[in-house]
Amino acid sequence: MPLMAIVSRLRRGDLFFSRLRRQLAAAVAVCPFTSSAAHDAGTGVSGPHLPVLIVGAGPVGLVLSMLLTKFGIKCAVLEKSLSFSRHPQAHFINNRSMEIFRKLDGLAEEIESSQPPVDLWRKFIYCTSLSGSILGSVDHMQPEDFEKVNSPVCVAHLSQYKLVNLLLKKLEKLGMHVYRHDPSDDWEPDSPLEKRILMGHECTSIQSTNEGVIVTARVHNGTTLEERRLHCSILIASDGARSTIRRLVGVEMKGERGLQELISVHFMSMDLGNFLLKNRPGMLFFVFNQDAIGVLVAHHLEQGEFVLQIPYYPPQQNYQDFSPQACEKIISKLVGWALQDVQVLDIKPWVMHAEVAEKYLTCNNRVILVGDAAHRFPPAGGFGMNTGIQDVHNIAWKIFYFLKEVASSSVLQTYESERRPIAISNTNLSVENFKAAMSVPSALGLDPTVANSVHRAINTGLGSIIPKNMQKAVLEGIFSIGRAQLSDYVLNEKNPVGVMRLEKLKRIFAEGKSLQLQFPAHDLGFCYTEGALVADTSENTQNCNRAGSGRVSREYIPTGRPGSRLPHMHVKPFTAASTEETLSTLDLVSGDKPEFLLIIAPLKASYHMARVILTKAEELRVLLKVCIVWPHCSCQSRSTGSRAELEPWKNYIDVEECKKDRSWWDMCCLTNKGVLLVRPDEHIAWRTESDRVADAVSEAEKVLSRVLGL
Ligand SMILES: Cc1cc2nc3c(=O)[nH]c(=O)nc-3n(C[C@H](O)[C@H](O)[C@H](O)COP(=O)(O)OP(=O)(O)OC[C@H]3O[C@@H](n4cnc5c(N)ncnc54)[C@H](O)[C@@H]3O)c2cc1C
Repeated sequence: MPLMAIVSRLRRGDLFFSRLRRQLAAAVAVCPFTSSAAHDAGTGVSGPHLPVLIVGAGPVGLVLSMLLTKFGIKCAVLEKSLSFSRHPQAHFINNRSMEIFRKLDGLAEEIESSQPPVDLWRKFIYCTSLSGSILGSVDHMQPEDFEKVNSPVCVAHLSQYKLVNLLLKKLEKLGMHVYRHDPSDDWEPDSPLEKRILMGHECTSIQSTNEGVIVTARVHNGTTLEERRLHCSILIASDGARSTIRRLVGVEMKGERGLQELISVHFMSMDLGNFLLKNRPGMLFFVFNQDAIGVLVAHHLEQGEFVLQIPYYPPQQNYQDFSPQACEKIISKLVGWALQDVQVLDIKPWVMHAEVAEKYLTCNNRVILVGDAAHRFPPAGGFGMNTGIQDVHNIAWKIFYFLKEVASSSVLQTYESERRPIAISNTNLSVENFKAAMSVPSALGLDPTVANSVHRAINTGLGSIIPKNMQKAVLEGIFSIGRAQLSDYVLNEKNPVGVMRLEKLKRIFAEGKSLQLQFPAHDLGFCYTEGALVADTSENTQNCNRAGSGRVSREYIPTGRPGSRLPHMHVKPFTAASTEETLSTLDLVSGDKPEFLLIIAPLKASYHMARVILTKAEELRVLLKVCIVWPHCSCQSRSTGSRAELEPWKNYIDVEECKKDRSWWDMCCLTNKGVLLVRPDEHIAWRTESDRVADAVSEAEKVLSRVLGL
């Protein structure tokens, strides 16, 4: 029956269709944009069907496209812009993201060689001007960061657009091609979509089908516009903080909106770079003086690349007030003299929110939100992009097993139950860290919450009835009175108020109560409590990292608790050619395929458990490798290893602990009868002790079914 006839009979209230109408209503409730037209065989979709379509070529979408391509899952990326953004934005890459990048064909090593030397960015500096008095300085690196105690890799500092460039080079090597809709490009609409990053493709609408999602993209080629419809099994929304897809599927954000508005000025100045390089190298410079206030992010001192963040109070202030010339003036006020070589590249207003999407998956788990589309935090602590990268690391292997029909679609649902609580915890932490950043101006008598309240009062209270230009004058008057607190007259050692404020400031820095950069307990210690894992409550929780408990502790405590990231420890493979050749336990998990890892000790009962799990995994088509951790100095076992115990299986590795002072099992809070099942994203899915398992076959079945949502 033609679609229009169905629609008109539905409208007439035809009894025959009343049941169908109820069913449709139920479907619409699940996915508000479900279109009956989309269920037609003739969907009008040009081009082939694609397993995964990623909307948004920011760092998060690109990392996912790389993970999926490595796993052999066909995907394409749509990007609305005609070129990649050059605005530096994110720059701090935390430990966990660097661990993920280590597995992306050496991306971490390239980041390390492209970033500025660590001594140029390890500090946050608080000053009255970039050439004036230093109010305080905080070093964010600790000796253990360089000793690689908790992780085989260090944190890094590289501008987001440079990271995107490195990612694009890696993707190119995997055969992923950036298509710019250029006449010289020979790609036709009907040619395969996979391995394409389609620039100038803006997703404007989506429709759910029985097999997936139809995406309509408006295609810009700079001068003309056309429409293209693409059909995929899974649609990934990595389209950023103002996600179109999130809006189209009607997912709300929950949290605090509009914490602060800022103007971001991207500029180059070799003079400033050289001056800071010589006199006070650092990553962030918080400048407070009578004429201006701002936070300068030194993206690369040696290249003279900076971003200045300036508080912005619309509608009394306009975006037009921040012309390149006006920004140059503000820069001079913050520097303390007029730089001759400032080149303003970009000026962007932005709003700081602290929000998490109420749902991460919709439309029968076919539409999945990742990165900023799923959460937006204050940048304090650098959690935004890092959390997004960890989101897609979590979902990639689940998509693989779902599309291969090994796991049920409920495995995709575990992405939400695992990642959403982490986003909420990171939101809280970022807000706390943002407040900590505000403690410095507050101590100086310049309370930003007062400025925000005054601004709100002008916008909503009695102030809103005075003319706009007068509102602006009132606001600027109040701000200049506030900034007068920063004058040399107040802030000096002879003025009792100044002495009191400077003392307070010293205490804030000494007690670590200002803005912090590293949170190993969160970055490495975040733990999933429910999801694609078998929860285990046996461990003393005091011994665990508790994400969500705020800035309390910097310390990361390794654990083998299910849901945690596999602890890092150096081990030596039996096959190592030299005594120096060691691996991190994290390297035992493949980065090229979505393979599970079973870690056991060389004991009879553990080998038995391994054989049973290998058999079950093979039956279910789950990739699995076994690692046998031998105690330190197991030289006599080297010649035979585990061959006799694990034959005919070949996918195993014998390794020896490198350290004698702490055993692997001790670190995982297990005895040496321990058995650990690790997921392809390096999080522990299950643990037990081989002598605790009565029926290995039913246990193996239970565990794998649980993890795969069978
Ligand atoms: C000042 C500042 C400093 C920051 N510092 C850090 C930091 O140090 N560390 C950190 O981890 N995070 C930081 N962040 C946050 C970080 O920049 C973001 O979290 C990150 O950009 C999110 O990446 P994404 O890929 O999810 O989204 P985005 O980078 O926003 O990418 C989304 C992409 O989708 C495209 N798009 C949007 N709509 C559509 C559509 N309809 N169709 C097709 N394409 C579309 C956009 O053009 C864009 O290219 C900072 C943010 C700010 C503002």
